[in-house]
Amino acid sequence: MLIPCPFCGLRPSEEFTILGDATPKRPDSPEADPQAWHDYVYLRDNPRGRHREFWQHVGGCRAWLVVERDTASHEILSVELARDALTGGDATGRDATGRDGS
Ligand SMILES: [Zn+2]
Repeated sequence: MLIPCPFCGLRPSEEFTILGDATPKRPDSPEADPQAWHDYVYLRDNPRGRHREFWQHVGGCRAWLVVERDTASHEILSVELARDALTGGDATGRDATGRDGS
């Protein structure tokens, strides 16, 4: 499987480490409902099909990424920097293939 790092281009997945599910939303406050914290920390789905995951390019630029891939076919559907995925911005101007979008 090849992953298009926004900084390094297409790289083999062996250069990356997966952290896991990127879809859980952190509760807004430490005083939030304990059940919300429990769900955030411990509960994960194991879907077949499209899934968003955190990956780090440990064998390259060390950037944290959010990779959307099909867990059945391993097709990469999109890649973005984790900071942009969490804030909604795009600091690179590059698309999921790593090419410059301008
Ligand atoms: Zn990289």
